[in-house]
This record gives sequence, structure tokens and C-alpha cells, in this order.
Amino acid sequence: SALLSLRDVWVEYGDRIILEKVDLDVEAGSFVSVVGPSGAGKSTFLRVILGQEAPTRGKITLDGAPLAPECGPDRGVVFQRYSVFPHLSAVQNVAFGLECAQAPVLARLFGAARKQALAEAAAMLEAVGLGHSLDLYPAQMSGGMQQRLAIAQALIKRPRILLLDEPFGALDPGIRADMHALITQLWRQYDLTIVMVTHDIREAFTLGTRVLALDKRRHDPHAPHRYGATAV
Ligand code: ADP
Ligand code: ADP
Repeated sequence: SALLSLRDVWVEYGDRIILEKVDLDVEAGSFVSVVGPSGAGKSTFLRVILGQEAPTRGKITLDGAPLAPECGPDRGVVFQRYSVFPHLSAVQNVAFGLECAQAPVLARLFGAARKQALAEAAAMLEAVGLGHSLDLYPAQMSGGMQQRLAIAQALIKRPRILLLDEPFGALDPGIRADMHALITQLWRQYDLTIVMVTHDIREAFTLGTRVLALDKRRHDPHAPHRYGATAV
């Protein structure tokens, strides 16, 4: 059965229907792209799977259990920007991701555990191509490096599912191509399950094994019909 499952999920704001009867099964190991023009409801969709917003109706399960209300260690997330802490170095940022997952109450480790967390963080940074940048701070990194760091921070928790919110939208085309290669490699290497939200239809089809198209016309009859293709 599916790892993540949405059944008859609706989100309505007043009389506006933003998500209309979304039924989606995300199988373990798949890479699902959610694509649509600005205003189609992509961010709303992601907030709902993150547990930050309850749908108006419908049911969401992760591994058969109802979704926990807050983003826990089962879900890793990377945003377009500002995913990492500016006052922590690369290795500290990634170790912090691990500490939060392992000790959510204390969120702080000491001695041997801390040393272990830093070693695991360094290995994860190596895997995303930042093995030589452990002690750099985000402000000292390019946009592409910051997104590599954000991916490492999300993956160190070994999340059941990795959620990407326009992760490459702010990057130059050349860098974006490098990031596409990286995320594809990590997806295979770690047997990840990924849900990526993007407005870039080419990116959606290049990376996704399945594509869910959200159509703005569903809730805005005056919106131009931008995409013909839908859930594949
Ligand atoms: P149809 O109405 O014939 O099913 P569409 O192209 O309008 O064709 O939609 C196809 C699929 O895309 C539907 O199964 C629907 O669930 C999904 N879909 C499109 N837009 C939205 C939206 N805003 N919210 C939820 N699902 C949508
Ligand atoms: P996308 O991420 O695809 O650009 P959003 O999910 O941000 O789309 O928004 C979808 C629609 O829902 C937009 O028309 C937006 O104005 C509306 N919307 C989003 N959040 C709220 C809210 N909290 N209250 C009312 N309308 C909202």
C-alpha cells in the first residue's frame, strides 16, 4: 500500500475551493511532482501534507496512520530559501537536524552523542558535495550550496518522505541542472520517497516518476488555462 495517501482531500477558504477532491497515493520509492501555475494551490497542498494546515475535509495517512499535526522526523522539507540557520555553520546546521529528530525535547546533545552527530553530519555533507565546506556559514555559500546544505539537513533525519517546495526555483539554469543531477542521485542512493512542488512543468516531468497537475481554473474561472496535462 502507499506510503503517503490522500483521500478526498478538500481545502476551501470561504466559498473558494482551492483543492478539490485530491486523491493521491505516493508509493514508497516514487518521486511525485506537483505542478501548476502560481495560485493553483501548490503551497496549500504542501502545508496540508506538512500538517501545518488541516484540510477542510478528507483523510491523509502516512504509513497507514493519521498524519501527525506537526512536521516530525518522518518528514524532511526543503524550501526555496531560508531552510537553514544563518548563525550555524554547515556541519552545525546538519547536526542540528539530527539532534531535533533524536532528542526533540532536549534538542541538545552532549559529549559522545554530539561528536557522533557531527561525524554523521560531515558524512551527509560529503554526500551532497559539501565535504570541503563543513565550517562555512550559509552567508558564505552560493545559492546552490545553500540548497545542498538544506537537503543534507533534511536527509540526516532519514525521513520517511522528503518534501521539496520549489527547491531550485531561485537558482540559475546551469546550477539547477547540477541540482537535478544531485537530487536524482540521492533519490536512488538513499531509496528516497520524494514529493516536489514546482511551477516549472519541464522540471516536474524531468524529475518526477508521476506528475500531479493542479489547475487554477478549478477555483478561479477567470484564470487562463495554462496546463492541459493532468495527473499521470
Ligand atoms: P477532469 O475534470 O476531466 O478530471 P482535469 O484536467 O480538470 O480533468 O483534472 C484532472 C485531474 O486533476 C482530476 O483528477 C483532479 O483531481 C486533478 N486536479 C486538477 N486541478 C485540481 C485542483 N485544483 N485541486 C485538486 N485536484 C485537481
Ligand atoms: P500556489 O502555491 O500554487 O501559488 P497557493 O496555495 O499559495 O498557490 O494559493 C492558492 C490560492 O489560495 C490562491 O488564490 C491564494 O490566494 C489562496 N489562499 C492561500 N492561502 C489562503 C488563505 N490562508 N486564505 C485565503 N486564501 C488563501
